[in-house]
Amino acid sequence: MKRYSAFALAREAFRNHSGWERAWRAAVPKDEYDVVIVGAGGHGLATAYYLAKNHGISNVAVLEKGWLGGGNTGRNTTIIRSNYLQDESAAIYEKARSLYETLSQDLNYNIMFSPRGVLMLAQTEHELRAWKRTAHANRLAGIESELVDPQQIKKIVPIINLDGPRYPVLGGLWQPRGGTARHDAVAWGYARKASAMGVDIIQQCEVTGVDRDANGVTGVQTSKGAIRCKKLCFIVAGSSGLLAEMAGFRLPIESLALQATVSEPIKPIIDCVVMANTVHGYLSQSDKGELVIGGGTDGFNNYTQRGSFQHIEETIRALIETFPVISRLKQLRQWGGIVDITGDRSPIIGKTPVPGIFVNCGWGTGGFKAIPGSGWATAEMLATGEPGVLAQSFSLDRFAEGRMIDESVAAAVAH
Ligand SMILES: Cc1cc2nc3c(=O)[nH]c(=O)nc-3n(C[C@H](O)[C@H](O)[C@H](O)COP(=O)(O)OP(=O)(O)OC[C@H]3O[C@@H](n4cnc5c(N)ncnc54)[C@H](O)[C@@H]3O)c2cc1C
Repeated sequence: MKRYSAFALAREAFRNHSGWERAWRAAVPKDEYDVVIVGAGGHGLATAYYLAKNHGISNVAVLEKGWLGGGNTGRNTTIIRSNYLQDESAAIYEKARSLYETLSQDLNYNIMFSPRGVLMLAQTEHELRAWKRTAHANRLAGIESELVDPQQIKKIVPIINLDGPRYPVLGGLWQPRGGTARHDAVAWGYARKASAMGVDIIQQCEVTGVDRDANGVTGVQTSKGAIRCKKLCFIVAGSSGLLAEMAGFRLPIESLALQATVSEPIKPIIDCVVMANTVHGYLSQSDKGELVIGGGTDGFNNYTQRGSFQHIEETIRALIETFPVISRLKQLRQWGGIVDITGDRSPIIGKTPVPGIFVNCGWGTGGFKAIPGSGWATAEMLATGEPGVLAQSFSLDRFAEGRMIDESVAAAVAH
């Protein structure tokens, strides 16, 4: 694989950019792999990369029914933060956030990580108390995050309306090194490096069945034929329940549509990410100048990848209360993804009832930020057969044992 560099750019400029290689190989499936990963989203690709990099395991296939990064990884609003309440969550999200800091250098691919700061508004007394508690918990966990008052908020976001008609802004939780990254680039960067290390990424290859014998998994059936494997990992977000059903077990996951929208591009008006959880809407500005706006999930399970209209209307209404300055802005595009939600709003990384089958899912509305940490932890589990320190609390058993990692009470929304 040729390195991307200023020198390579200059060299290609002199020969009409004819020397660039394909970013990743178009692999043809082999008969057998040590590990098969289903789903070429950020989590699946990061897992494959860290399997090769950290554990020297590259006889790995990543099978993708559509195109690489075409699931939620290419549909999210790219918010990155790690100021979660529970210790287990803070650990894995902070591992991810810290890996994001140097991911462009590690992958030799510009993922456009922008630590512009994330502000989560408190618009009720309850929310203010919750953020106070989170700020204390974060300090104990060594995570940089602080409570800010309305005057500090006005300085950070001059366009904000502190005295909204329904809920005034009472304070906020501010993580200065939170921010955004280019979502496609995260998938493309991991794919390029994993492919160069020998991982086969096979697109247009839908898994349609799971083969098993009395000892556990033996392989998968796909739209490109049967593939044998020693270990199998489902990393398919909103399709997790469907894959589990193929393997003969059930997951405590609900699949719901979550949507986002972007406005026409305008000059810079906001240089951080703001989340207004009570009125429910969040906002940042892309490098192109578009306002990137996200809302809540549909109130019913579905696989539509679109989302219902009233939700987007509610989100825009909420944001106009918080930022009246955007009231006449036109929206350019709207889209949706299918998110995989657990009862405690925390992910599942662990073994399943079928020996040899592992799962990584349940990231719900907030898994983009976790991609590097999740890939790191899942690769460790696949390499050793057991979850390591980062993953062990997120096992499937916790639902049977009542060991919840409850982020729903803590945050109500988890983007
Ligand atoms: C609108 C929206 C906004 C969001 N905003 C944020 C945010 O701001 N910050 C944040 O941290 N998170 C956010 N998220 C959540 C985040 O996008 C997801 O948690 C994360 O991208 C999940 O990544 P993944 O790799 O697990 O899944 P995906 O990227 O969905 O990848 C799974 C892949 O599996 C493939 N697949 C499914 N079934 C099969 C099969 N049978 N065979 C082969 N392949 C299969 C799919 O085609 C897909 O490509 C948002 C999500 C949405 C939808």
